Amino acid sequence: MTAAVDPDRSEWDVIVLGGAAAGENAAQYASQFSGLSSVLVENHLVGGECSYWACMPSKALLRPVEVVDAAAHLPGVSARLDPAGVFARRDRVINGLDDTSQVTWALNTGIDVVRGYGRLAGERTVVVSRPDGSARTLTARHAVVVDTGSCPAVPDVPGLRAALPWTSRDVTTMSEVPRRVVILGGGVVACEAATWLHGLGAEVTVVHRGERLLARNEPFAGTLVGEELHNAGVRLRLGQSMSQVKRSEARDTGEGRVHGGEVSVTLDDGTTIVADEVVVAAGRTPNTDDIGLETVGLSAGGFLDVDEQQAVREADGTWLYAIGDVCGRALLTHMGKYQARIAGEAIAARATGSADLPSATAGHTGSPQVIFTTPEVGSAGVTEQQAREAGIDVETVEYDLAALAGTYVMRADYRGRAKLVIDRADDVVVGATFVGAGIAELVHSATTAIVGRVPVSTLWHVVPSYPTASEIWLRLLETLRGNRHAALGE
Ligand SMILES: Cc1cc2nc3c(=O)[nH]c(=O)nc-3n(C[C@H](O)[C@H](O)[C@H](O)COP(=O)(O)OP(=O)(O)OC[C@H]3O[C@@H](n4cnc5c(N)ncnc54)[C@H](O)[C@@H]3O)c2cc1C
Repeated sequence: MTAAVDPDRSEWDVIVLGGAAAGENAAQYASQFSGLSSVLVENHLVGGECSYWACMPSKALLRPVEVVDAAAHLPGVSARLDPAGVFARRDRVINGLDDTSQVTWALNTGIDVVRGYGRLAGERTVVVSRPDGSARTLTARHAVVVDTGSCPAVPDVPGLRAALPWTSRDVTTMSEVPRRVVILGGGVVACEAATWLHGLGAEVTVVHRGERLLARNEPFAGTLVGEELHNAGVRLRLGQSMSQVKRSEARDTGEGRVHGGEVSVTLDDGTTIVADEVVVAAGRTPNTDDIGLETVGLSAGGFLDVDEQQAVREADGTWLYAIGDVCGRALLTHMGKYQARIAGEAIAARATGSADLPSATAGHTGSPQVIFTTPEVGSAGVTEQQAREAGIDVETVEYDLAALAGTYVMRADYRGRAKLVIDRADDVVVGATFVGAGIAELVHSATTAIVGRVPVSTLWHVVPSYPTASEIWLRLLETLRGNRHAALGE
């Protein structure tokens, strides 16, 4: 049985503004062992973007594409993709855009849920506007946590907005496959969307102003993913921007449905691409422009700068916290949830007078990330360039992931690469990147080595199982040893 929230209640210890997965964690960690009361204020669906329009549906769409690709590389196995079946499974993964299970979890965990759009209205105060036009004022005895997330940034290209392009919400909840699609962007969302749209049968063109995809990763990651997309038939227009978009019959047909007639996209070089839909995947904007920040002396809009406990630096006192995409640190669910655990524990510690304050140290060592393209890209820590910019005395080592028994049994024509970035002074790994099929699960071993600052001499005794992709660790260490011997001999 779930508990109902008292409609007249106005005071809690902790108010979380935005009920995404991170917000749920912040409320849980603030309340769990402290006895503090907490409430989520959610304008739409409890669970946020990740559960319904981002991580979960995108991975549900990518998994069948991955399976078909794996089968295509395995003689004797065949697999076929049925878009209707794929969409049906995706709909189950996102619970048909119904948040009942997450609301039930919150209420059963002792976290209250108030529906409506919340805005700060002075210190520790949130006014919630309800769909019926009424307003409710909530007060926090201890803290307010901002978890309002981000929304897609739509660049100022003439005609683009009027064309009603798809954003991440449409492409993740799509219920029909446009025949021809132009994707604007070259980052994670653009590359993943290109992978599943192509896998579902669309003719895809990616327009990206940079010369390489996935620019925040080691250069070989974008190169390998770009080559694979190209070989599969995706057209890559790199080093190009859209200069104009025209759609004569733009229609708001609903989320995930083609928004009208043909679209003409003109690029900087004067070429025109005709498509049935345009997908904008060109970055995110924090949802901070209309949440009442100005009522507590902060500027509206922009990312919120937070300290080690996730408290907003420019706010007076330590009552206002921010977690997730609004901090602009690592726009990833798992990092938002990590920040939430830190914020929740910090709020509980301060409220109970504990001197034991947690600190968000993982934010400094670099966050892990898996990009579920074909091939996958997994990384943890920093890239070589980031390490050099941080003044680290860098040593690097790379190895071909195809040269392992574990990947050979996966597929004979495996393609992949791995790289470690080592801090020479302390002889510890500070960055790792793996590109190839089935490498997602390798990332956590790298994260453990990096966060734990495990010495390279100790990693020698971390024996990988045979035949698995994790043997890449041994090959990288052997190559490193060879490089060091060669350097000594010079
Ligand atoms: C297509 C796509 C795929 C992705 N895949 C991955 C992935 O595989 N792994 C990963 O780690 N990350 C992934 N991400 C990133 C991840 O989705 C985000 O980092 C994450 O959702 C951010 O969470 P958040 O806590 O900041 O808030 P959000 O998930 O953005 O949610 C914010 C919540 O606040 C509510 N809200 C906003 N303003 C108010 C208000 N004023 N009052 C009340 N409620 C409000 C919203 O309704 C929403 O529910 C992906 C992103 C996209 C777009």
